[in-house]
Amino acid sequence: MDCIFCNIIKGDIKSYTVFEDEIVKVMMDINPVSNGHMLIIPKKHFVNLEDIDIKTLSHIQEVAKDMFKLLKDKLNIDGLTLSQNNDYGQEVKHYHLHLIPRYKNDNLKMSSNNKKDDIKTIYEKIMK
Ligand code: AMP
Repeated sequence: MDCIFCNIIKGDIKSYTVFEDEIVKVMMDINPVSNGHMLIIPKKHFVNLEDIDIKTLSHIQEVAKDMFKLLKDKLNIDGLTLSQNNDYGQEVKHYHLHLIPRYKNDNLKMSSNNKKDDIKTIYEKIMK
């Protein structure tokens, strides 16, 4: 299987590595949404949230906390948005958590003007 993130982990492709341990690598996103945009990727290949195990997932969250502190200390960020795509919208099919630094007045917004059903209808579908 040819996976770009597995190739990065193997060292076949270079990356700007911020941190690594036995379980994860944290690297700069090659096409950043904002200054300091990083990705936390597990060294073992998991496709998505369905696939990954809880132990690895909780380690990723621990590392995210450390990176938040690092970004605050080094880049003086005002906030941090975590995002993680699964299946549709997921370009690289190797689990990764985006750490997207926020800066006051940066105007980064998730699109909110796309068509949506009313909350009650959706809530009832979820709770049924
Ligand atoms: P997603 O759409 O959630 O799968 O996001 C994939 C992310 O991986 C994108 O933000 C890309 O910019 C990033 N990316 C792709 N190739 C590389 C690479 N070689 N090094 C660092 N980031 C990469």
